[in-house]
Amino acid sequence: MRFTFVTLFQNIVEGYFNDSILKRAIEKNILSVSYIDPRDFSLNKHNKVDDTAVGGGAGMVMNPQPLFYCLDNLKKQDEDVHIIFLTPVAKQFKQRDAKRLAKKSHLAFVSGRYEGIDERVIETYADEVFSIGDYILTGGELPSLVICDAVSRNVDGVLGNSESLEIESFETSLLEAPSFSKPANYQGIEVPKEYLKGNHSKIRTLKIALSECKSKFFRPEQLLKHITRKSYEK
Ligand code: SAM
Repeated sequence: MRFTFVTLFQNIVEGYFNDSILKRAIEKNILSVSYIDPRDFSLNKHNKVDDTAVGGGAGMVMNPQPLFYCLDNLKKQDEDVHIIFLTPVAKQFKQRDAKRLAKKSHLAFVSGRYEGIDERVIETYADEVFSIGDYILTGGELPSLVICDAVSRNVDGVLGNSESLEIESFETSLLEAPSFSKPANYQGIEVPKEYLKGNHSKIRTLKIALSECKSKFFRPEQLLKHITRKSYEK
């Protein structure tokens, strides 16, 4: 799977791929990452990419010309590219989006800076727009990486053990049951005894009960979803 980051700040994004799971996936050619700097497409003699807002208002807006040129070029190179804009006003990115997008061959993330991107660019090129939450960041680079990371985990071969995906929070409506690493007794704090007895069916039942407790405490709306789904299945 290919990822292209359209960003004025490649350095911010690059470092994320220099370690751990995503680094290994790139080394195994499961993922590839490339960068486009809109400045390289600016017709302005100083490679400017922003301007004051039409109609007034504080701050600068990323202007259409460099982005029109670079996104045209990207689409010419790969007509299957799926272009995603990051913006705080869009629908919030969810795990189900990560799973759906993992089936695409090429995702491009367009990061805004300053007061954002000229709306005409988004209207013309966006296949999809996402927010990562109701707060304002200085740029779209972190949201792009958040989405890229969540999608990558769902690309075949990226995680060593794909079973770990199946039990994770948000795969079903319930949150994942609490996890414990060895030792089973650390400074007198013990893991639930049932985890130690090796009866996998009992451990599974206990984990479901703990999942329900955790969901009720942290995300009651997720538990409600789970209960509603179960009652439909009956
Ligand atoms: N003026 C814009 C507004 O009020 O909606 C905010 C612009 S923000 C300072 C600059 C850029 O950061 C945006 O164009 C977007 O790419 C990115 N950004 C900021 N917060 C975000 C969020 N919660 N989700 C996704 N992208 C975000």
